[in-house]
Amino acid sequence: MMHSIQLCVKRLEMESETLLNEIEAVFPHVPRPKDLEVSFHKVDCFECEYIRKDLEKYREPILPDEAIRLLYNDLSCLSSKGWLWVFPSYLRHCITKKNDYDDIETEFLIYALSPDLKYQKETLERLSGFSKPQLLCLLSFLEWCERHEHWSDYCADEIENGIGFLKSLLSNKYGV
Ligand SMILES: [Zn+2]
Repeated sequence: MMHSIQLCVKRLEMESETLLNEIEAVFPHVPRPKDLEVSFHKVDCFECEYIRKDLEKYREPILPDEAIRLLYNDLSCLSSKGWLWVFPSYLRHCITKKNDYDDIETEFLIYALSPDLKYQKETLERLSGFSKPQLLCLLSFLEWCERHEHWSDYCADEIENGIGFLKSLLSNKYGV
């Protein structure tokens, strides 16, 4: 008979696999956007200019882990096209990562999806290129975090905010 902690680990493994399958289905890797199209602001913003420079050497649809590590704190400097390029690699990285306690990328993705009121408009702009299945998949990601031993404890408020934010976006845009 398995101990409850093992059952817990087993359950999370199965849920991660289900979520990974959903990500594979709705977030195919896409070609990299042209340089200016990657960033949220195109002119007069140093932060966006820096992120364009940092990303210059990554030209492929799939981003390596080192690029994900570079990006986590600058997700708000990416455009909608930028997010659509980065998210397939980023999401896969978050779900397959072994050590949750050093997983700053997942933490910052939760923050990026649960903006404070004053940043909601910008975030909606960044999500404007996402399809309904993709938005539902982001919701699945936050619901996965909500059941996750570490994230449910560490980022409970942000996860709840994010779920509310995505649900209202889905309801406004698609009536679901
Ligand atoms: Zn900017």
